[in-house]
Amino acid sequence: MEQRYIRNFAIIAHIDHGKSTLSDRFLEITGTIRTEALTKQEQFLDQNPISRERGITIKLAPVRMHYSYEGNVYQLNLIDTPGHIDFSYEVSRTLVACEGAILLVDATKGVQAQTLAHLREAQKARLTIIPVINKIDMENARVKVVEKQLEGLGFAKEAILHISAKTGQGVVTLLQNVIETVPAPKGEAIKPFRAIIFDAVYDEHRGVIACVRVLDGEVKQNNPLELFQTHQKTNAQDVGYFTPGLVPATKLSSGEIGYIVTGIKTIRQCRVGDTIFLARTTIAPFPGYKTPKPMVFFGVYPKATDDFVPLREAFNQLALIDASLTFHEEYSSFLGSGFRAGFLGLLHAEIFKERLKQEFQLDPLFTIPQVVYEKTELGSYKEPYIHLTIHVPQLYLGGTMALCQRQRGILFSVDYQDDTVVLQYDMPYSTFLKGFASEIKSISSGFASIDYDLTDYKEADLEKLEVRINDTPIDVLSEFVYRDEAVAVGRKKAEKLKVALPRQQVKQVIQCYSGSHIIAREEIPPYRKDVLAKMSGGDRTRKDKLLEAQKKGKAKMMTISKIEIPQKALFDLVAS
Ligand code: GDP
Ligand code: MG
Repeated sequence: MEQRYIRNFAIIAHIDHGKSTLSDRFLEITGTIRTEALTKQEQFLDQNPISRERGITIKLAPVRMHYSYEGNVYQLNLIDTPGHIDFSYEVSRTLVACEGAILLVDATKGVQAQTLAHLREAQKARLTIIPVINKIDMENARVKVVEKQLEGLGFAKEAILHISAKTGQGVVTLLQNVIETVPAPKGEAIKPFRAIIFDAVYDEHRGVIACVRVLDGEVKQNNPLELFQTHQKTNAQDVGYFTPGLVPATKLSSGEIGYIVTGIKTIRQCRVGDTIFLARTTIAPFPGYKTPKPMVFFGVYPKATDDFVPLREAFNQLALIDASLTFHEEYSSFLGSGFRAGFLGLLHAEIFKERLKQEFQLDPLFTIPQVVYEKTELGSYKEPYIHLTIHVPQLYLGGTMALCQRQRGILFSVDYQDDTVVLQYDMPYSTFLKGFASEIKSISSGFASIDYDLTDYKEADLEKLEVRINDTPIDVLSEFVYRDEAVAVGRKKAEKLKVALPRQQVKQVIQCYSGSHIIAREEIPPYRKDVLAKMSGGDRTRKDKLLEAQKKGKAKMMTISKIEIPQKALFDLVAS
């Protein structure tokens, strides 16, 4: 289609502000999906075939709609953005594939942390932004207050649209406003083909399907293609767009959004942010490409030795579809062979876990998560820090600030906006591994919203806490802790272990070491198996022999000391 009739846009919103509901209304108004289909399956986009294949929806396929307006047919491409901070790089690549964004704000909740975070990203991508207040049908809608908030963010009052995605009120006007205000793409139609990949999905039968925004030129089936970052070469096996099912097309031309079936067999060779282009031409890559960096590491160990090979196979398989997963084999003297796996964040790890379970029927042990610590030349450690923004109603300010202080947050700005307070902190990223997200939720009865940017690595006064049972170091229970928390953490660990470990034939001594110091110690007495029970009468020598044998057995147990730690005990500790 001619570029002047194309509009590429995204809906950006804090979670639950109505993004999916509004998308459905758009599909309906444009006749992309029939109303009956929608009512049968509410939130149709959540059901699209590709996201179903991925098991867990992180992001939906971009959907192409057609709409007649003032005598012309427009091609409207709506792209979804992932709603979680673990995938903020994907959000940024999605936004650069658009010219405009609808900033959707729930009239009952107002501007929240991710509203702002997404707005900042959209501004960085120089998008035209349409401010929209949603859910105006609700009794507790505070349209005036939210209007003020949006004005405070630099939007003109007249530009703000009021809608109900649920009833459809104002949605047609909004769609027409998209056509009126979002600029048409301005690619060079006659230049060699060049497109940015903003999403990529692995399909078992067809290999990697890249979701692309064509920048210049056009692409057709069988065109020889190349990827700029990975130098991978391939042929376009098929091209088309989503409605949201896959619809083959004869070509994708400049300004358009659609898919290329690349036939590439691993997602690592076709990464989000990379530029795909016509082979043997010279092009400039789209700027801003990054390789995702893992933030959280877990040890992943099979619970039964037999599961090691299937687990390795699962890692290899999932690495084909998940470009951000990193892993290598690791050996624990305690748990045997396993893996060290890196994730973008806890949600990413959770998704991986879920896939192992659903798609591979594997349920391995995940050890205590850790962030990446940098060791300095002087032997001290640095840890990753974030710039954390919290939006919280004044009512919960005290509790929120106390929590942040406990989590080593350094407050650097407080901003009162009506009854909401915006707090900004410098905080160690590791705070998330200690349950910060759920704590802040419970402290604020779910009203606080948070968002963060990674900033840099900062000095951290850390030391390694080692757990030994009967002098055997339990490597999977070791972790880095803040020096001033070491004793408390060590004691808690020892106590928990004492409760969690069953008695065994031998005495179990639990010790927590920090360096060469023992900072916590607990004992679990042995149960005494009554070896004499079956004996009647008094053959003294035979009794002595048995007792002697039992003692020897014990000594042997001590030295080989293969202590059985039930998985549950480990889980309890991991969850601490
Ligand atoms: P998302 O997380 O941004 O995709 O939000 P959803 O579209 O899933 O909407 C979250 C909830 O708000 C759902 O229960 C919707 O039915 C509801 N909702 C969305 N828009 C409206 C609206 O305009 N009015 C009312 N009353 N509810 C809405
Ligand atoms: Mg949704």
